[in-house]
Amino acid sequence: MVFSKKGTGFFQSDGDTVVIFDMDGTLGLSLIPEEEAFRKVFELTCQEASRSCGSRVSLEKMEQFYRQAKKEHYELYPLKPRRHNKRIRLRLFLEKVQQNNGIRFASEFLDKIHDFYWKHFVARAKPYPDTHKTLEMLNRKSIVVIATNNEDEETELKMKLFGLKPGKHYRFLFSSERLGICKPAPEFLERLIQCLEEDLGQPITGKRIFVVGDDPRNDFAWAKSIGAITIRVRKDLHAEREPTCEDEKPDYTVNNISEILDII
Ligand SMILES: [Mg+2]
Repeated sequence: MVFSKKGTGFFQSDGDTVVIFDMDGTLGLSLIPEEEAFRKVFELTCQEASRSCGSRVSLEKMEQFYRQAKKEHYELYPLKPRRHNKRIRLRLFLEKVQQNNGIRFASEFLDKIHDFYWKHFVARAKPYPDTHKTLEMLNRKSIVVIATNNEDEETELKMKLFGLKPGKHYRFLFSSERLGICKPAPEFLERLIQCLEEDLGQPITGKRIFVVGDDPRNDFAWAKSIGAITIRVRKDLHAEREPTCEDEKPDYTVNNISEILDII
């Protein structure tokens, strides 16, 4: 039995089980809201192109420019935390729209679509109905960790939106910014374990490790490499996404997060 004090609360756990959660799509609805918020940005950009530049650009074209911008963004920051930074993504998107249509938006338009994006995202993203109760129960009997590809600022905002509190719902939170790398890079796992052992003050060798995620392409192969038991929460945008190889197949699949309590 391990008793330790960290942050705001006292923890009592058997110390033998570590449960590592992904955040987006796993603990709450956020990927569909993200897509919807980007769509709102495309609509606003269409209107602005027409209003201030007299240029008609279709919604389909905007989506195409966005896809190009996203690809370029990922290439600029390969598996680095900044690959998920929305301001960079939106700036690249506006550059594509401007270059391809010979138009120039006012400099403050980037701020406007950035705020617009977050306004729409915040209005739609939310935790799943059973997230709080499930994490609370698990946090009492095991070491609950949240590990996300988001940078710190976005992590903080989403944790607030999902209503997740340290001590009550989880014990450790790791962003890609702290780890310096994103999933599914193998270094993500190395640094996660290193940081976790530092914060925990003990090695995690010999403990049962569960990894819970929603995206078969990102969440399980790295987890399996350390013998973790993998659980897929079939929710949000990736609910119908299929694994492309054996390594991407989780050990368990659940439709609701509370069902993991029967497994762990
Ligand atoms: Mg996810």
